[in-house]
Amino acid sequence: MGEWSCEVTAATFQLGKYGTELSSKSRGTIHLTGKHPDDPGRIDANYLGDPQDLKDLATGLSMARAIGNSVPLRPFTRREVAPGPISGAELERFFRDGLGTFWHQSGTAKMGHDEMSVVDGQLKVYGVDRLRIADASILPRVTTGNTMAPCVVIGEQAARFLQNERYEAEASESRAYEETTR
Ligand SMILES: Cc1cc2nc3c(=O)[nH]c(=O)nc-3n(C[C@H](O)[C@H](O)[C@H](O)COP(=O)(O)OP(=O)(O)OC[C@H]3O[C@@H](n4cnc5c(N)ncnc54)[C@H](O)[C@@H]3O)c2cc1C
Repeated sequence: MGEWSCEVTAATFQLGKYGTELSSKSRGTIHLTGKHPDDPGRIDANYLGDPQDLKDLATGLSMARAIGNSVPLRPFTRREVAPGPISGAELERFFRDGLGTFWHQSGTAKMGHDEMSVVDGQLKVYGVDRLRIADASILPRVTTGNTMAPCVVIGEQAARFLQNERYEAEASESRAYEETTR
């Protein structure tokens, strides 16, 4: 095929899956279930725990419906499939029944200075020597967008920190050696 071609075969299309909450206000929890390292963590994502998330989703849905049902899009659409002009408890049920996740769980060992912070700006765990964390858990808040690329950056930064520490240790060793042989 030398060229790109696109044929619309689906009878329906979705507008942003009825809305996406990328700056969720709800906060989940993860708890230890035992003392052994192999004991599983107990995760509660607490989806829609903060009422603001539901409000934001409703606003997004309303915008998506307005666009999908607008006059300029009429030549490309036949009818709205779901959810239609619902509101209140029915709308809430629609969201709660159909909610999905982008799997962007993060921030359980956040970087920062407050009492909830676990690592400092060099990814070092407060109060534990020679331990760094380099993954999505150190994000102070979930990124507005995908999390994989930020995790790559976190990994690269961690590698740089380790490399710099190594260079500094080697440089100080060689300075000490030079001084003893002077
Ligand atoms: C189904 C799904 C789809 C996703 N889609 C996207 C997407 O399209 N775009 C995007 O940007 N993000 C996506 N994400 C999110 C993204 O994958 C994560 O945010 C990111 O991978 C987190 O990186 P991490 O390094 O924190 O953890 P992980 O990628 O989970 O890495 C943790 C690593 O630690 C290893 N490990 C665990 N325990 C141990 C142990 N005891 N000893 C040694 N190693 C251990 C694991 O095997 C794993 O390799 C998706 C996530 C999921 C689950």
